[in-house]
Amino acid sequence: MGTGTGQRLVLALGGNAIAPGGTGGTAAEQTANIARAMEPVADLIHGGHDVVLTHGNGPQVGNLLIKNEMARDVVPPMPLDWCVAQTQATIGFTITTALEQALARRGVSRPVVTVISRVLVAADDPAWSAPSKPIGPYVADEAEARRRSADTGQTWAPAGRRGWRRLVPSPEPISSLDRAAVELLLAGGAVVVANGGGGVPMIRDGGRLKGVEAVIDKDLAAVRLAADTRAGRLVILTDVAGVALRYGDADEEWLGEISAAELRSLQSDGHFAAGSMGPKVEAALRFVEQTGGTAVIGALDDLRGAAEGGTGTRVVPG
Ligand code: ADP
Ligand code: MG
Repeated sequence: MGTGTGQRLVLALGGNAIAPGGTGGTAAEQTANIARAMEPVADLIHGGHDVVLTHGNGPQVGNLLIKNEMARDVVPPMPLDWCVAQTQATIGFTITTALEQALARRGVSRPVVTVISRVLVAADDPAWSAPSKPIGPYVADEAEARRRSADTGQTWAPAGRRGWRRLVPSPEPISSLDRAAVELLLAGGAVVVANGGGGVPMIRDGGRLKGVEAVIDKDLAAVRLAADTRAGRLVILTDVAGVALRYGDADEEWLGEISAAELRSLQSDGHFAAGSMGPKVEAALRFVEQTGGTAVIGALDDLRGAAEGGTGTRVVPG
């Protein structure tokens, strides 16, 4: 079982890949999607790869926020740090159950553990004064959005045809607060799920740690996890085959292997959309530049190809 530098793979599963189609996704559907995703993950582990997992939670946390809104006169709405922790728990126990069973069918007996993971952010991050991440339910009319903003102090902004939406800050992940626990579990032979949904965002307030109303980008939190666990490869799995130039246009062009320098230069030309492919490209670049490893952005449906090197957009040092 490879535990040395360079042998480890961090797999980051997109929240949309687990619950496709926005707010849809019953528990049974998400459980089935996760079970399907864990089959190729179990193959990788069975084949000798040392795998660490993380995942997004966009649709799942969005659903919790809708429940908060609708039930706010009955039970107290919970802050975002609580919602992130809740989605780490539900997605995590579903992943651990599915992966444990998929491994057992291959004759592999390994503990699979989800760590409810806190991630430190800076109290003075510039993101606090520029909320950028749209979350939760849409409201159709401007007056309602303004009323909510006045009642709660939240930032609401126009969000296309479906109306208005709350914006929250998306601060930089500084460090994984549960890193030591993750290391102990890995040293003990466990398959670990950590930093789900970007991690529960916390700041240091005097001597205390405090949860905050923010969302950390899960792709950037995956870079922290991969660097912390000395992974040689970060594999970001989503619902498209990789990174495209002129995505969606008739002349779109999918990128295969590309150097970090070349991808940085395409990024600075403004090729990659904020909020979707942008953070994945930035995460891949940071991982390669900071660790000298390789990062892959590819399709969950083709996990083996993305993990082993044949498919997806592969970002290499240089
Ligand atoms: P996830 O839940 O996996 O984080 P996102 O929706 O955040 O998924 O990002 C993946 C989406 O990014 C794809 O479904 C695709 O529609 C979109 N996308 C935007 N720009 C690009 C691009 N340049 N190349 C490929 N996909 C892109
Ligand atoms: Mg995303």
